[in-house]
Amino acid sequence: RTRVRFAPSPTGPLHIGGVRTALFNYLFAKKEGGDFILRIEDTDQNRYVEGAEAYITEALSWCGIICDEGPHIGGDHGPYRQSERKDIYKQYADQLIAEGKAYYAFDTAEELDAHRKDHEAKGKTFIYNWHNRNKLKNSLSLEASETSKLIEAGTEYVIRFKSPEKESLELYDLIRGKITIDTATLDDKVLFKSDGMPTYHLANIVDDHLMEITHVIRGEEWLPSLALHQLLYNAFGWEAPSFAHLPLIMKPVGKGKLSKRDGEKLGFPVFPLQWGESQGYRENGYLPEAVINFLAMLGWNPGTEQEIFTLDELIAQFSLERVNKSGARFDPEKTKWYNQHYLQQMSAAELARRFQPLLNDVLREKGAELPGIETIEKVTALVKERATFIQDLWSLSSYFFIAPESHDEKAVRKQWKEGTPAILRNVLNVMLSVQDFSSEEIEKAVKKHIQDEELSFGQVMPPLRLAIVGAMQGPHLFDIISLIGPEETRARIEKAIA
Ligand code: GLU
Repeated sequence: RTRVRFAPSPTGPLHIGGVRTALFNYLFAKKEGGDFILRIEDTDQNRYVEGAEAYITEALSWCGIICDEGPHIGGDHGPYRQSERKDIYKQYADQLIAEGKAYYAFDTAEELDAHRKDHEAKGKTFIYNWHNRNKLKNSLSLEASETSKLIEAGTEYVIRFKSPEKESLELYDLIRGKITIDTATLDDKVLFKSDGMPTYHLANIVDDHLMEITHVIRGEEWLPSLALHQLLYNAFGWEAPSFAHLPLIMKPVGKGKLSKRDGEKLGFPVFPLQWGESQGYRENGYLPEAVINFLAMLGWNPGTEQEIFTLDELIAQFSLERVNKSGARFDPEKTKWYNQHYLQQMSAAELARRFQPLLNDVLREKGAELPGIETIEKVTALVKERATFIQDLWSLSSYFFIAPESHDEKAVRKQWKEGTPAILRNVLNVMLSVQDFSSEEIEKAVKKHIQDEELSFGQVMPPLRLAIVGAMQGPHLFDIISLIGPEETRARIEKAIA
C-alpha cells in the first residue's frame, strides 16, 4: 500500500512551498489509493513555535487536504509527533554505534570552531569526516577505556554517522533520475545530540521506516541530504523508500527562490499564525479551490492545455513523471486569475452568503441599516462579474447600501449643467409615480418622459447616475434605482440638486 507523509517542523505558519509539498504528497497518495500521513518533526526545541502544529492541521484542512493518520486523529503508526517518540531513536543510534557505523564525538563547540578557523586560514573548508576524524576527539580516535570514562563522567557528546571514505554512491530520484555521489565529500553528520534528542536525519529515517512510508516527496532543498539518508537505510539494512524532490518555487521576477520576505507582499502564508499578524491567502480573500489549483501548477503540468482542475481532477491526473526538474516561477497575477475563475463560478446566492459578514461589518461601522440576504444576493448578481475577490464586492456595490459619500468631481464638471437640477427634479417625480418601482417600468417611464420633453439621454442619464452612484460606473442604472427603492432614490437626488 502506498504511504506518504508530510513532515513539517512546527516552526511557524505554513508557507506555499510547504503547502505545495503537502498537496503533491496528497495527490500522489490518493491517485495510488494510498495513505497521507501527517508527522510533526519537532525535535529541534530551539525552533519550536507554540501553536504552529494546530495551525498546520487547520491550514491543511482549509485547503481540503485530508490526513489519514496524524497527531490530531491518531492511527496505527503513532505517535505522530517526534517529541513523543524520543525513546525510540536512542536505541537506533546505539545500534549503529555497536555495529561500528556511528561513533561518539566529544569535541566542544569552541574546539570545532577553532578547527574551522584553522582550515579557513589555510584556504580550506573543515569537514568532520574520514579525512580528519582520527585527529579529533571521538570514540574512533580515543582508547575505548577513555571513551567510557568520558561518558561515565557525563561529558557532553554527540553521535556522528561514520560516512564511508571513498565510495561512489548511486542514488535515484523519481524526478531527477540517477544521481552519483562521491562519499568522500560527505561529512559525518550528527545523528543524536547532547540534549537527548535525535537530529532531523536520524528521526526522519527511523520514522519513515517504522511508519512504512513508501514514497518520500519533499522540496529540492532536501536533495543534499539524500546521500546520508540512503547511507542510513543501508546501515540499518532497511529498504529505502522511493524519493522525489520537488522543484524550487522561484521569485515572480528576477533570479532566486521565493523567500518568506517575498511572501509578505504576496500574501504568502495560508493565513497568519497569530491574529493581527500580516495577512495570508485566506484573509486576502483567496478561495481554497484557487490556492490548490495554482499550487498544483507550480512544478507539475498535465501535458495538455487544461489549467482549471478541481481537487478530484488533480488526483485523477497527477503523476510524478509530469513534475518538472527546473524551478517553477511563482506568478501572483496567475494566482489572482485562478481566484477570479473560481469566484465567477460561484452562484450569486453563495457569493452573497460569503459577502454578508464582511458587508455587515462595514455597514455597522457606518451606522447604516443591514440589508437582508435577498437584497445582498440581488446586488451580488449585478456586480459579481467584475470581482476577483469577495472583498471586491464591497467596492463594486457600496452605493447600493449607502449613499455615495462624494461625487466624482471630474465627471460632475463634465455632466452637470445649469439646467440639470430642474431636469432631475422632474425625472424624480416621474420615477416616483411608477407603481411597482421595477427596473423595467421605471426605465419605460423615464424614456417616455425624455421623449415627451424632447430631452436628450445625455442631459438625463449621466447626471442621474452621478446623483445615485456618485461616479460614472456600475451596472444598469434602473436596476440600481429599483433596488435602492423610491425613498433612497428621492434622498440621493434631492441631496445632489440641493
Ligand atoms: N521536517 C522537514 C521539513 O521541515 C521534513 C523534510 C522531509 O520531508 O524529509 O521540511
